[in-house]
Amino acid sequence: MTGANADSCPGEPGKVAPVVDRNRCEAKNDCVEVCPYDVFEIQDLSPDDKSTLTILGRIKAWAHGNRQAFVVQPQACRACQLCIEACPEDALILAPFVRRASGS
Ligand code: SF4
Repeated sequence: MTGANADSCPGEPGKVAPVVDRNRCEAKNDCVEVCPYDVFEIQDLSPDDKSTLTILGRIKAWAHGNRQAFVVQPQACRACQLCIEACPEDALILAPFVRRASGS
């Protein structure tokens, strides 16, 4: 842990959200630990997730138990970039957050 808390990340939520590069993430958990808003979880890759990987990405994923970081609460992101600075694989970027329409 870095001691990050909500004071480390005072921006407005719902503007941007992190995107994980599936060919780079190695499930090292730094983003989970550093994010003050519990935006990430480490989860198993689904077959659909694996199907998007390059050959090198598949080998990397296999070597790390087929687990990676997932953005489970994108609406909570406050754009502090702590996760981006913490990721040792440069696997994260922030992108505009687009709320999905419900019921469609
Ligand atoms: S930029 Fe990263 S660390 Fe900061 S709130 Fe968003 S997901 Fe969490």
